Amino acid sequence: MKVPDTKDNLMRCICMNCPTHNDCMKERKQGLFCARTKSDCEFEKQGCICGECPVAADYRLSRMYYCEIGGE
Ligand code: SF4
Ligand code: SF4
Repeated sequence: MKVPDTKDNLMRCICMNCPTHNDCMKERKQGLFCARTKSDCEFEKQGCICGECPVAADYRLSRMYYCEIGGE
């Protein structure tokens, strides 16, 4: 299901708590990748917590690492 890029969804995105969410992403205030494009930061995959995210549950997302693949 397509995820709307809304402030409400951004507030509920838990990317900020993810070990993969690095300083570059934080500096650029990046998140809600499932509704947006992938990150333009360089990063090492350190795990993905999208599976625990309420946004993922609401929109029945089944993929991971949206920061790498971008929105569906
Ligand atoms: S599914 Fe992942 S990218 Fe999408 S809002 Fe949740 S934590 Fe962020
Ligand atoms: S998309 Fe997944 S891996 Fe990337 S920052 Fe969000 S929770 Fe972490």
